[in-house]
Amino acid sequence: MIEHDQIQAALSARLDGEAHSLDDAVVDAHVAQCPECSRYWERSVALSRELKAAEIEPPDLADVILAGVSDPWRKMAQRRMVTLAIGRLALVAMALVWAVWGIALMANPETTDPAATSFAAVRLGVALALGLTAWRPRQVPGVLLIVGTMFTFTAGFALRDALLHYGEYPLSLVLVPLATLVALVWTWAADRGIEVRRAWSLLNANPL
Ligand SMILES: [Zn+2]
Repeated sequence: MIEHDQIQAALSARLDGEAHSLDDAVVDAHVAQCPECSRYWERSVALSRELKAAEIEPPDLADVILAGVSDPWRKMAQRRMVTLAIGRLALVAMALVWAVWGIALMANPETTDPAATSFAAVRLGVALALGLTAWRPRQVPGVLLIVGTMFTFTAGFALRDALLHYGEYPLSLVLVPLATLVALVWTWAADRGIEVRRAWSLLNANPL
């Protein structure tokens, strides 16, 4: 008496294209009259078909977007354009944040301290500079220096106040310059690409 297990092993081997000790005619005769092994065979065939279908890789989304562009250089240039567009949009958004931030400080009737009004003017200046970099990404390094310095100082003060428990330091003073820095670096990297990588290794070799 042939066991179902043996038949099913033979069926598996047949699907995989491997040899098996059982005679094909014996296996077929059993499957024809055994609902269990017949079901096993159908399931195995379906599974094998699904596995074969999964092996065909789905097309890369980027390739679909850039369909028709076979030249790798043009492809790279197109990717750079998309990255740069994202960076410029982020800079415009950050310029608006700084402008609103400056105007809010000026419009506040409680702002009577000359230092605060001066800080409001600085914010509007940064907003203007960011607008310039969105228009002319080549201007990023100069603005990066200003925003980078602002971020370093505010982060330093925030850390000092947190360590010495000097009350709450407004988080926006650190987060807005940080987000601006990210937008600037992103745009700069998209604009300069490979040059940035070289500059970065140079900076790492000679820390300021
Ligand atoms: Zn069977």
